[in-house]
Amino acid sequence: MQDHAGAPPALDPAALGRQLFDASPDCVKLLDGEGRIVAINRCGLAAFGAASIDAVRGRAWKSFVPAASHADLDAAMAQAAAGGVGRFRGSMPDPEGRAGWWEVTISPIDGGLLATSRDVSAQVAAELERERLLAQLKTANERMEDVFRQAPAFMCVFTGPDLVFEMVNERYLQLVGGRDPVGLRLREALPELAGQGFVELLEGVYRSGEPVFGADAPVMLQRQPGAPLERRFVDQVYMPLRDPDGRVTGILVHGIDVTDRKQAGEKLRASEERYRTLFESVDQGFCILEMIFDEADRPVDYRFLEMNRMFEAHTGLVGGAGKTAREMVPTLDSFWFETYGRVAQTGEPVRFESEAPAMERWFDVYATRLGGPGSPRVALLFSDITSRKESDATLRKLASDLAEADRRKTEFLATLAHELRNPLAPIRSGLSVMRLKGDSPASVARVREMMERQVGNMVHLIDDLLDIARISGGKLELKKERADLRLVLSSAVETSLPLVESGRHALTVDLPESEVPVELDATRIAQVVANLLNNAAKYTPAGGRLALALRVEDQDALISVRDNGIGIPRDQLSAVFEMFSQVGQHTERSQGGLGIGLSLVRRLVHMHGGEVSAESAGPGMGSVFTVRLPLASGLPGGGGRSPALEPGGAHGAGARILVVDDNVDAAVTLSMILEACGYTTQVAHDGARAVELAASFRPRLAFLDIGMPGMDGYQTARAMRQLAGLEGITLVALTGWGADRDRQRSSEAGFDHHLTKPVQLDVVQDLLAKLAA
Ligand code: ADP
Repeated sequence: MQDHAGAPPALDPAALGRQLFDASPDCVKLLDGEGRIVAINRCGLAAFGAASIDAVRGRAWKSFVPAASHADLDAAMAQAAAGGVGRFRGSMPDPEGRAGWWEVTISPIDGGLLATSRDVSAQVAAELERERLLAQLKTANERMEDVFRQAPAFMCVFTGPDLVFEMVNERYLQLVGGRDPVGLRLREALPELAGQGFVELLEGVYRSGEPVFGADAPVMLQRQPGAPLERRFVDQVYMPLRDPDGRVTGILVHGIDVTDRKQAGEKLRASEERYRTLFESVDQGFCILEMIFDEADRPVDYRFLEMNRMFEAHTGLVGGAGKTAREMVPTLDSFWFETYGRVAQTGEPVRFESEAPAMERWFDVYATRLGGPGSPRVALLFSDITSRKESDATLRKLASDLAEADRRKTEFLATLAHELRNPLAPIRSGLSVMRLKGDSPASVARVREMMERQVGNMVHLIDDLLDIARISGGKLELKKERADLRLVLSSAVETSLPLVESGRHALTVDLPESEVPVELDATRIAQVVANLLNNAAKYTPAGGRLALALRVEDQDALISVRDNGIGIPRDQLSAVFEMFSQVGQHTERSQGGLGIGLSLVRRLVHMHGGEVSAESAGPGMGSVFTVRLPLASGLPGGGGRSPALEPGGAHGAGARILVVDDNVDAAVTLSMILEACGYTTQVAHDGARAVELAASFRPRLAFLDIGMPGMDGYQTARAMRQLAGLEGITLVALTGWGADRDRQRSSEAGFDHHLTKPVQLDVVQDLLAKLAA
């Protein structure tokens, strides 16, 4: 076989086949018809972990394959046995137990089968990983879809520049009235958006790739088929969506329908506005305050948070907002903190009226907590009711004054009846006496004197009553003229003399030396002083001391009437001037009057622009009544003498006058009046002394009382007429009787004039003036 030595070596197909068989990266096995291993390459041996063919030859291949793949194996072998190619994929761990996947192909060869198993572990692992990832992606997608669908915000996704709806969620459907727009272009799905700017805005986002945010954007939407467009407000974001290359492919719209919130806010604002307007327009004060508590939770102050316009008017506090009550009113009492503190702590509203002395005001307050438990804020609605309280008090006082006046009037009526009946009893008995003793002139005269006095009392009473009525009705007119107050007082003294005398009081009269000129109604002022003197006489136990004084102080004349009588309790001092007022009960005293004298006095004095007041150190300590009258203007106090008192001849001022009366007081008082008028007087209390005095004193005029014990007036007159040096004397009879017969008797006895007691000063003055003429 040398010849063949230069030729390429001949290929041994069997050897080549063996080499190829062994070099295959797959696991290749030759099986007999029963599936037993006939031959196996290197890779196959490695896969089975066998050292040589001997370890596996003749063994059923199936015995190396996990049971899970037996069915696939059987099927593939059957297919190959039938002349086809059987395939399956199975897993089989490697000799170290690592999981591995094989792709098996079985094909028929002569008398057996060729099985090739390729290791596809890496591929299967990759496939598995891909599937896992896909599944994960799917879950994530589903989750995203859930989020998308269930998001509390509305969402939609547009694709393409035409803005085609790709996805919308439930909220979005609600917003657009349930119309499903998916697949439609925005312009056709929601045609009502035309002209509202949204489409253009979205197109802009698509073009620019810039997101857009909008808050509270109003949008008109069709929310019910056929219904009018409805305005909704939305907060929204337009986000561009990009593909992996960064190109904008769509837009995510995501937002919240804030219409309800906005409307609620608007409603709240409107309601706040309404309440604010209400509180600003009420005429009550309104404020909100915040309580301040100490560590022990005791309310100690509060801060004003806000207040209405009227707050200032009702409290007088300016610029209170932010300040505390103690800052504004440092002396505010704790009542206010405690009350409002309780409202804050309990939540129970209160309504009350109370005075705030530190603010000098009364308040009507309604206080209620603002906010729930624990809130320190309290709202107050309040009014300043000071003037109402004051008028309440005034009303109460008025009512009580009225009741008091009514009580006095009732009392007055009883007293009036009593006072009017009082004089009637003696008058009636007097009449009986006159009937029985008509023949006794002395008795008749005494009775008549008494009756005259009683009638006089009644007349006086009735005059006072009428005067009061006139003054009250505004009908009393003063006949004012300039007069010397001293004369007026003298005439008052005269009027009161009978009462003074009957009480056996000693009366002193202290008048200034010079004229006291006053513009007055002489009769009325005389009435005033006489009333005061009468009271002094009435309310002083018998034998008291009375004093009338007149003095000038600044531009006023001061008349005082003093007594040492029963006095007046301090608390009654001003009440005595009230109508019908009487201190205690005088009805047991015959002189108890009607309680109108002082009221009349005060009214008359006021009508003269003057004042009257009473003083007393208390019961039993006597009283002083003082009348202050303005002096006549233009003439200072202490001007010239009154013309009536100008010395005129022998009877003018300075002339000597003798006063004779067994009633010592009567004599003394008359002499005092005369002295006050500028005459020089002497007094005698019986006829004999009178004659004696007349001889030495040589009076120009003598007043002789007729009814004197011992030597009476007539006898005295006759005796005087006998005296040498007294030829020119004027004799004036003073009697209680003024009848013609008496006059006749007195002129027979040598009297020049006849005056009835009590002597009226003006009558005396007229007389003196006539004598001087
Ligand atoms: P009446 O008619 O009761 O005297 P008046 O108005 O003159 O009425 O006086 C009122 C009251 O004042 C008297 O009732 C008496 O209680 C008291 N009063 C008046 N003057 C005096 C006085 N000089 N001393 C004590 N009380 C007096």
